[in-house]
Amino acid sequence: MKLSAKRWISLIIELFLMGVAVVTLISYLPKKAEKAKYIFLFIGDGMGNPVVSLTESYMSYKEGKLGGERLTFSSFPYFGLVTNHSADRAITCSAAAGTAIATGQKTNNGLLGRNPEGEPLKSFAYDLKEDGYKIGIVSNTPVNHATPACFYASPEQRHHHYQIIQDLAVSGFDFFTGSGIKGYFGNSENDPDCQKLLTEAGYHIYWGQEEYEQRTENSEKTILCQSHNKGKEAKEYFVDGFERKDSFKLPEFLSACLDSFGDEEPFFIMCEGGTIDWIAHANKTIPTVKLVQEMDDAVKVAYEFYLKHPDETLIIVTADHDTGGVAIGWGNEWMGDTLNWGILDSAWNAAGGRNTLEWEENRKLNESAHIGWPTSHHTGDNVPVYAIGKGAERFNGKMDNTDFKSKILAE
Ligand SMILES: [Zn+2]
Repeated sequence: MKLSAKRWISLIIELFLMGVAVVTLISYLPKKAEKAKYIFLFIGDGMGNPVVSLTESYMSYKEGKLGGERLTFSSFPYFGLVTNHSADRAITCSAAAGTAIATGQKTNNGLLGRNPEGEPLKSFAYDLKEDGYKIGIVSNTPVNHATPACFYASPEQRHHHYQIIQDLAVSGFDFFTGSGIKGYFGNSENDPDCQKLLTEAGYHIYWGQEEYEQRTENSEKTILCQSHNKGKEAKEYFVDGFERKDSFKLPEFLSACLDSFGDEEPFFIMCEGGTIDWIAHANKTIPTVKLVQEMDDAVKVAYEFYLKHPDETLIIVTADHDTGGVAIGWGNEWMGDTLNWGILDSAWNAAGGRNTLEWEENRKLNESAHIGWPTSHHTGDNVPVYAIGKGAERFNGKMDNTDFKSKILAE
């Protein structure tokens, strides 16, 4: 059968229109979300909503106001609330919460990077590493403390610090920071110390700013610690020590990692304000506020990076759990009473920017300021999540801490 010229033309037009229809239809199909090229995940250990509100109340007081001041991260456009119970407890520990965030699965309190049956779980940082991302694990606690460890280790128990360092040594991750290393000398005389173990695994450890400034190579695998912990067991708890002159503060740790990474290759940086938890366990009000502000200063470093790469950067700020359940208003008159930040601020300044008060004295000081700490432990409150940048809308509304993995990987 022979087609006429007219029929040929109409056939070509029909095919063309069908093609246009198909292309139009495809463009309306939901697109697979892509993950951001640069991903920052901030975890304030113990930084629940009460602690954030406390900090903003103090910031407002310093401005002569009753309220209204905001941290950088609480000004982000997307906000959600995160449930954070563990597999076996209503109130989580850092290891179980960090495991849920890093692996998307709940586990029991006391377990790290393993499910309740004791099987190792995979942190999404390894998925990103396989996708060509550089990985930075930034914290101001020891590099092998619970929260950072959840992103690269699966020890049999959270306190098996030497085993965590052995996992770090084979992680292949690019940049670690922390106050020092726990389990530094190993479990027996036969174990090489952590300096030797990590050096043999290809890591260069710098202890303090002086050593770091004298480095000759910028592309090597790096561990950056405070100078005062060089060659020894990292001290875990401190109450008033964050004013040490030789210290990297959290923003400086993050800047060092960011400078090392640059912006050519994709990266993921987990940045933990880990000492907020420690100081909130001690119910020290002004030091808690100062450490939340220090974390906010680190968020500012990421935010400046975001402003240069707004279409490719995602910043998430959250907490693993709340610590202390601090109440803004305690023992007040019925209605109309107020806080007395001045009394706390004066005590802080009089002691030279420290709070070395013993438990009972500190409790009385808090009470006189009308600040109440109902517990020195973790609470089961929902924690906040704030987000800005590419894919930030996924962090809007209510979620569970096991949702972070899929939201970050845009699965
Ligand atoms: Zn804690």
